[in-house]
Amino acid sequence: MTLTVKETGNFSVPFLELGETYQELKNELTSVFQKVMDSGWYILGEEVSKFEEEFAAYCGVTHCIGVGNGLDALHLILKAYDIGEGDEVIVPSNTFIATWLAVSYVGAKIIPVEPDERTFNIDPHEIEKAITPQTKAIIPVHLYGQPTKMDEINAIAKKYDLHVIEDAAQAHGALYKGKKTGSLGHAAGFSFYPGKNLGAFGDAGAITTNDDILAEKIRMLRNYGSKVKYTHQLKGYNSRLDELQAAFLRVKLRYLDKWNERRVLIANAYLNSISNKNILLPKLDENINHAWHLFVVRTSDRNSLQSYLKSHHIDTLIHYPIPPHLQQAYAERNWKKGSFPISEDIHNEVLSLPIGPHMNEPSVQKIINVVNGYLLDE
Ligand SMILES: *Cc1c(COP(=O)(O)O)cnc(C)c1O
Repeated sequence: MTLTVKETGNFSVPFLELGETYQELKNELTSVFQKVMDSGWYILGEEVSKFEEEFAAYCGVTHCIGVGNGLDALHLILKAYDIGEGDEVIVPSNTFIATWLAVSYVGAKIIPVEPDERTFNIDPHEIEKAITPQTKAIIPVHLYGQPTKMDEINAIAKKYDLHVIEDAAQAHGALYKGKKTGSLGHAAGFSFYPGKNLGAFGDAGAITTNDDILAEKIRMLRNYGSKVKYTHQLKGYNSRLDELQAAFLRVKLRYLDKWNERRVLIANAYLNSISNKNILLPKLDENINHAWHLFVVRTSDRNSLQSYLKSHHIDTLIHYPIPPHLQQAYAERNWKKGSFPISEDIHNEVLSLPIGPHMNEPSVQKIINVVNGYLLDE
């Protein structure tokens, strides 16, 4: 992207224009919609199995199991590994709360581990200190679309015989040492919530894995614990990927790489052209390809940056304002301010700038110029 015009125009920049993806693909989406409706088959049909094949191939794994949403994907993996009461699961202290809720669903104990200040991803050096004889699994999150240091995490997991469950909900198509997220641990959970890099037009999720036994068990768990209709081996759930959503996802999957490339262009424009000393830009690990689900900057007075951008008609969001350990939902653990200080500081100082496959160049230029003017022209 070349920046030529000095753009600070009076137009508004929304955080994300979800409707644009529909507009771009309207004909294709309408045609698959009609195909599914005409088929008369609306649950676990051909579209779901085809999407599962295609997404498994995309991630470079042998199995994909479509489920209701990203939280269920993580929950069903933990359940299939028989993780529950009395077990401990290591999670990042700095993540969207769904990572934690999946662990709470199965009754296991959450063990939060602080992030690396550079990348905001879980710090492998801190993981080993948190392991006890009760530890059963680690759930690294590829936060904002940047893959976590998986070699280090897999080595620790091997040493202590732990499951590695990727939370890949923000990292569709991201690469670690040339390999796709979703293929980097024992199993991975994806969300296709509309705003994700690969998003449905409603709730949807999936699990990817190379483990045949795990895959078979999750296929049963998502469908009442049943493999053969009306025969139930397990006390399962109802968490199936919707047939219509699968049809939409098959269309959108073909555009994912193109849209991720567009995100990379925008992120690189920000990285190369935002030069405000009050603002810390995201830092990238070596050997990774970032999916840029979010472009998150850090500054000591985040709220004032947010109002400044708002006054220039630029929408931003905070991912996330309150760390999971200080949420009322986890009051029973008695964590306090200061329990996980690195995560708390991050939560206090981050701001997400608009990024998305349909953002135009004037919007990108405007954001760069306005951000660079912050605290200078007041
Ligand atoms: C979105 C998200 C989830 C949950 O996905 P849903 O489909 O909304 O249930 C889990 N983990 C992370 C990191 C997410 O961003």
